[in-house]
Amino acid sequence: MGQGQHLPFHPSFHWGCGVKATILYIEDNEQNLYLITFLLNAKGYKVLQAREGLAGIEMAARLRPDLILLDIQLPGMDGYTVALNLRANPDMANTPIVAVTSYAMAGDREKAFEAGCTGYIEKPINPDTFLAQVEEHLQGRASTGGAR
Ligand code: MN
Repeated sequence: MGQGQHLPFHPSFHWGCGVKATILYIEDNEQNLYLITFLLNAKGYKVLQAREGLAGIEMAARLRPDLILLDIQLPGMDGYTVALNLRANPDMANTPIVAVTSYAMAGDREKAFEAGCTGYIEKPINPDTFLAQVEEHLQGRASTGGAR
């Protein structure tokens, strides 16, 4: 306790002081990153940002977010491959993964679910309904016993 350099939690850790859950957003578009982070922060969610798939997979393994928002069109590894890699980690077997994508083609939704995503939100997002959609997926996790 004496040193202050080996605290069990990062100083920005605020469970019970307004932060409801931690959400990892894997997205390469700065405007989407800004808008969705702004909306989630305004409601008390902590947002972790990754701008490409490998960084997102590494962050998820290290920081164990409560939910992952996943863009499908990413540089390098696409979102489907990212979802498959996330699901390969037993620690994230029950973590909601919500695809956020502007793909409108029939079949993309199925492809996202086959890769392990548990939900699908189309871009451009609607700020009036986006938070409710995210909260539904967070509660889905709670009902399976994973949340505290
Ligand atoms: Mn993208």
